[in-house]
Amino acid sequence: MTDPAAVARLTRDLTSAVKSGSLADLYQDLHRVPELAFQEHRTAGLLAERLSAAGYAVTGGVGRTGVVGVLENGDGPVVWLRGDMDALPVTEKTGLSYASTVEGVMHACGHDMHVTWLTGAAEAMAAARDAWSGTLVVIGQPAEEGGGGAAAMVADGLHDRFPRPDAVFGQHVAPGPAGLYSHTPGLIMSASDDVHITVPGVGGHGSRPEASVDPVVTAAHIVTRLQTVVSREVSAAESVVLTVGEFHAGQRPNIIPAEARLALNLRTQNPKVRERVLAAIRRIVEGECLAGGCPAPAEVTMGAGFPATVNDATLDEQVTAVHREVFGTATVIDFGPAMGSEDFSLLVPAQVPYDFWFVTSTSTEAWQAAPGDELGEKLDAVPSNHSPLFAPDLSVLVPGVQTLAAAALSRFA
Ligand code: ZN
Ligand code: ZN
Repeated sequence: MTDPAAVARLTRDLTSAVKSGSLADLYQDLHRVPELAFQEHRTAGLLAERLSAAGYAVTGGVGRTGVVGVLENGDGPVVWLRGDMDALPVTEKTGLSYASTVEGVMHACGHDMHVTWLTGAAEAMAAARDAWSGTLVVIGQPAEEGGGGAAAMVADGLHDRFPRPDAVFGQHVAPGPAGLYSHTPGLIMSASDDVHITVPGVGGHGSRPEASVDPVVTAAHIVTRLQTVVSREVSAAESVVLTVGEFHAGQRPNIIPAEARLALNLRTQNPKVRERVLAAIRRIVEGECLAGGCPAPAEVTMGAGFPATVNDATLDEQVTAVHREVFGTATVIDFGPAMGSEDFSLLVPAQVPYDFWFVTSTSTEAWQAAPGDELGEKLDAVPSNHSPLFAPDLSVLVPGVQTLAAAALSRFA
């Protein structure tokens, strides 16, 4: 079906029975009991139960805690819908009646909303299976935060054990006045790389620096000099963020430690720029170590990383057209590429087109109370993903089901 208006009508029909109250119960239940990466046993169990009840063939334990539900519904394309399930080590401060009951763990990135949307869409598509034809595969992915979840599912045979997709869809809850749908054809999320650096020194007494090589000073110079990479070596037209998030050295004021350890995170949107920045990092570490007289070369190792998320432009345009029909043209916008990262694209088999978009979820009260007049000012002021105050509004429960259903229906004849 290619007519966006027809797909939108079908989407509205198919989701008209979706009850906000029942989605809210599931969402609040998931929100109360968040589970960290690869520990999503209860969450995966709830999703699997609902998928089974709706008639999906369900496989659990894919990539440790992942869930895959398959609904074969006649001839036609295969569509994958993906939602991630894990929470974060954040102590919730929202004061919501359904706030986290797990000490130090919170659904601060909204993945509980993603599971709820996925469940709602899966159930609506199953209930109205007479209206479409094809195979729908619903994927509850573990461990998006910190990475590893998508790769674990692929390593566990996601691409071989289940029907190969013709298109893959995913979405993320985001700050912004509730009810906007941000579509970007092409690059939508950045690549992310963690880099670990160990600076060797010669430990000794704090009173006798002449008999030691102080790795703290060298590491401090590295941190400072790294600040020049983006400002002095990267074109102003490129988007790059380099943040040194870890600096570990020493135990006591009067001991020069034998080593210092740094870890940084890099966000880039262009593979050539990424290579260039990584080379600059290595050069600076080597140079500062030489200048500081390190007894051995510093170690630079790559840690966890995500590739960039690059939407298939044609697919994105088609889904955007349907979302415009469902929600109204003014609600479908393009925030442009984010510096955030996702492992969504790692789930997708090579050459298969995919589309990923954002659904904004800040409540009207919070949005109006935020200082500033411009969208950008308010966006900086309202609680964002990973904040202990992040609290998506329940008004987005049904729309997030419709976005997924609409995307799936846009592929099914
Ligand atoms: Zn997150
Ligand atoms: Zn997230």
